[in-house]
Amino acid sequence: MDVYTEKDVKGKGGFLKGKKVAVIGYGSQGHAQALNLKDSKVDVVIGLNKGSQHWKAAEKAGFKVGTIEEMSAAADLIMVLVPDEFHKDVYETRIKPNMKKDAALAFSHGLSIHYGQVTPGKTTDVIMIAPKGPGHLVRSEFVQGRGVPSLIAVYQDVSGSAKQMALEYAAGIGSGRVGILETTFREETETDLFGEQAVLCGGVTRLVLAGYETLVDAGYEPEMAYFECLHELKLIVDLMYQGGLSTMRYSISNTAEYGDLTRGDRVISEDVKDEMAAILDEIQSGEFAREWILENQAGRPVFTSLARMAGEHPIEEVGKRLRALMPWLKEQAAVKDRD
Ligand code: NAP
Ligand code: MG
Repeated sequence: MDVYTEKDVKGKGGFLKGKKVAVIGYGSQGHAQALNLKDSKVDVVIGLNKGSQHWKAAEKAGFKVGTIEEMSAAADLIMVLVPDEFHKDVYETRIKPNMKKDAALAFSHGLSIHYGQVTPGKTTDVIMIAPKGPGHLVRSEFVQGRGVPSLIAVYQDVSGSAKQMALEYAAGIGSGRVGILETTFREETETDLFGEQAVLCGGVTRLVLAGYETLVDAGYEPEMAYFECLHELKLIVDLMYQGGLSTMRYSISNTAEYGDLTRGDRVISEDVKDEMAAILDEIQSGEFAREWILENQAGRPVFTSLARMAGEHPIEEVGKRLRALMPWLKEQAAVKDRD
């Protein structure tokens, strides 16, 4: 993969010089990207719904804020940072009718473009700048003089400078300080969906629950099961994050490492990999995207019901009690509005 840093970007007299950027949405990514761009001296405005709960905060941070329609009309580059399931509606009804003919469109995830939910006009440059971290980290790293790596991709290049624009945007949010990696909309979308379904979210939660239930069903105390199967996961993941699997294995006891090496394959067996391949196939074929789009159109009945049932699992009750004994967890928390 090609990796770029600030010195490769070389914005002429600053990043995105002479371009007005409209960031649509002021949530997790929206606030972080917009603030970083502003600190990088990019001309950035915020587009929001009238009555948005974030309108005041964006103004207080020093931004010019207007409706999505107004800001789309004013911008040379429109970065869409509302949740993916609303891209189609927001683009078709509010951005497209107002945007300048030669304005460019940008996203931080490829889902809506790759699966044909947003179909930009033939005169529009379409790019992606996807920070590899949650919005709050994108901001906090930047403030400390560092950055979070970003992926960039070009879907449509009409101007001939789409890639340069993506590079400058990525540098503007701080990613040039660490690394900007070039990918495609397809690769980013499919690997992102696979990662969250099979490993990061779907995979890990079920691994935790399966371990917890096995111990509780065998008569062990739920508190013990919670500590072993959920709480301690962080310590292991931190080591993997720092130095990969080998650093984690270097740090754990020999007994733990022997158990890992001899038993792990039985937990994540070939059957599991076959199922992962089936999940990847549903992503590549568009089957998952169709299901998620239709689910949203139907008012999310399956999502609502599964999320409610998941929230009622006994592990949540035990966790609440145990976390109350560890007040420092809250102080270090990335998400402050949940316990
Ligand atoms: P988010 O925090 O949920 O976005 C919230 C913002 O979107 C708010 O300003 C909200 O309006 C606005 N919004 C929500 N629904 C809307 C609608 N129907 N019409 C107009 N505005 C609406 O979103 P996010 O997590 O930052 O994700 C934004 C994009 O970044 C997505 O494409 C996502 O895949 C991508 N991404 C996110 C992350 C991440 O860290 N979360 C990481 C990489 C990529 P109000 O101000 O009215 O509440
Ligand atoms: Mg992801």
